[in-house]
Amino acid sequence: MGIRIKKNDRVKVLTGKDKGKTGKVLFVDKKNSRVVVEGINIVKKTRRPDQQNQKGGIMDIEAPLNISNVMVVCTKCDETVRVKKRKLENGKNVRTCGKCGEILDKV
Ligand SMILES: [Zn+2]
Repeated sequence: MGIRIKKNDRVKVLTGKDKGKTGKVLFVDKKNSRVVVEGINIVKKTRRPDQQNQKGGIMDIEAPLNISNVMVVCTKCDETVRVKKRKLENGKNVRTCGKCGEILDKV
């Protein structure tokens, strides 16, 4: 199965401490099958002082989640859906909602 989640998708967390929450995908790490989702899986990270941040301190950052722990939310159905692939007449491959057929990619 290929990775069907892309940057800027809205996804729902299926497991873990943020189960049930939704957020926007900020980053997809295909190689390690991980995603970073805005506002999800926040961890405190200690930062040492550097040139940008003279004081250092503790920062809240989004830790990556396993890609299998999130599911795409259809903007139209407003729920998690299976993502299908479809080829448009212009030859472009897009991802569509398996339920309502809404095209999930911006074309
Ligand atoms: Zn839909």
